[in-house]
Amino acid sequence: MKPEPLKRVLIANRGEIALRVQRACSQLGIETVAVHSTADRDQLHLRHASNTICIGKPAPIDSYLNIPAIISAAAQAKADAIHPGYGFLSENADFAEQVQRSGFTFIGPNADVIRKMGDKVSAISAMKKVGVPTVPGSDGVLTQDNKLNQQIAEKIGYPIIVKATAGGGGKGMRVVHHSDELIQAIELTQAEAKAAFANGDLYMEKYLQHPRHIEIQVLSDGQGNAIHLGERDCSMQRRHQKVLEEAPALEIDSATRSKIGKLCANACIEIGYRGAGTFEFLFEAGEFYFIEMNTRIQVEHPITEMITGIDLIHAQLEIASGRALTIKQQDIQLNGHSIECRINAEDPHTFTPSPGTITGFHAPGGIGVRWDSHLYSGYTVPPYYDSMIGKLITWGTTRDQAIARMQTALDELTIEGISTNQALLQQILKDRGFREGGQSIHYLEKQVLEKK
Ligand code: ADP
Repeated sequence: MKPEPLKRVLIANRGEIALRVQRACSQLGIETVAVHSTADRDQLHLRHASNTICIGKPAPIDSYLNIPAIISAAAQAKADAIHPGYGFLSENADFAEQVQRSGFTFIGPNADVIRKMGDKVSAISAMKKVGVPTVPGSDGVLTQDNKLNQQIAEKIGYPIIVKATAGGGGKGMRVVHHSDELIQAIELTQAEAKAAFANGDLYMEKYLQHPRHIEIQVLSDGQGNAIHLGERDCSMQRRHQKVLEEAPALEIDSATRSKIGKLCANACIEIGYRGAGTFEFLFEAGEFYFIEMNTRIQVEHPITEMITGIDLIHAQLEIASGRALTIKQQDIQLNGHSIECRINAEDPHTFTPSPGTITGFHAPGGIGVRWDSHLYSGYTVPPYYDSMIGKLITWGTTRDQAIARMQTALDELTIEGISTNQALLQQILKDRGFREGGQSIHYLEKQVLEKK
C-alpha cells in the first residue's frame, strides 16, 4: 500500500477517548468528524472537531453501535478513515469489514484478524502455534457432552474457569472448584454468554489462584515490522475490571520483558497484525499465560506513553496511512514509572453509576501529572454509557514519586455534583500491600475492599 497521509478522520466514539483522538489528529494536521448521540451534544471534543454529525438516539444501539449511521456520516462528511476508539465497535470485525468495503480506512487491523482474535478459542490456538505461552485448557469449544466436559475438567485439574469464547468486559466467566458444580456452571455461563454476546460458545481453562495481570503493548505495521513497548501491570481489579494500572510492572527484569515482548512482536508478524494492540497475560510463579488479545487501543495506554515517550494514537494514525514503522525496537527505552487511576462516576459504597450534572470542577496539574478527560463544570454525565469519566495519570522517576504525585493530584481533582471513586483510589494508594507492589488480581477485592 502506498502511504497516503490521512486527511479527515471520523471518530466513532465518545468521552475521553474521542477527545484523545481529536487531540492527536489536531496535532498531526488531520481534520476530524465527531459523531455523537442526541445525549452527547455537549461533548468537549465536538467543539474542536472540524465537523460534527448527530447519528442517533442516546442508546448505544441507536448511535455508537449503529454501523449504517456511522458509515453514512463518514460518506457525508467525506472522511477517509474511521477511528473506533475502545469499546463500542472497536473490536467488531463486521464493522471493520464494512468500513473497508465502503472505501474508508479502518484504523486497526484487518477484519479477519479482529475476528480471529475476538474469538478467544481461536486466539489461543493462534498463539500456541507461534509459541506464545497459554493457560492449560480445553483447547477448543465445549460440547453438550457432560461426561466429556467432566473429563476435560479432571484432566486440567480443579479449580477451573469456564469462559465465553466471545467474552469481554469481565462478563461470561465462572470459576468451578468441584466437579459437582461443573454442569450447572456451564449452563449458567452459557445462558449469560448467549444474552450478553449472542454466542453461547464456552471453553475451559485452569483457574490460576494468585496471578498478576500483566499485558504487553505492541505496534505492528502489517508490513513485516513489529515492536513491543514493555508491559503494564493491571492487577488492581474489581469484578475483573481494571481500577488502577502501572508501568513498568515490578519484578519483571529486562531479560524477561524482552523475551515475552519479542514473542508478542513475532506473533504480530505471524498473524499479519496491523496497528496498536495488547497481549494480555496472567503471570504466576515467574510464568506468563496468554489469556486474550485486544485488537484496539486500550484505556490504560497512557502509562506506556509516559514511560516510552511514544504517542500511541499518532502511531495508530501513521500505521493506518500505510507508513512502515519508523520506530525500531532499540529506540524503545523505558524511563521512570507511571500510574493511571480510572475515575468513575459511581457511588463509593454500592459502585452503582452516578450520572448527573457537574456543578464544580477543577483539574489537577503540576509536574508529571496528566488528566485525560472530557469533563468541565456544567457538563452532565449521561446515564447511558460507561461510568468512566476520566483518567488521572502520573509519572515519576521512581514508583514512589509517581504514587506521591498521584495522591496530590487526586486530592486536587475536584468533581462536585456527582459521586466518584476518588476515595477508593486514595485508599489503594495508601495501602501497605499496594505500596509493596506485585499483588495478585484478587488483592483489591480481598484485602482492600473487605477492610472497608
Ligand atoms: P475479558 O475479555 O472479559 O476482559 P479476560 O479473559 O481478559 O476477559 O479475563 C479478565 C480477567 O478475569 C483477568 O484479568 C483475570 O482477572 C480473570 N481471569 C481470566 N482467566 C483466568 C484464569 N484462567 N485464571 C484466573 N483468573 C482468570
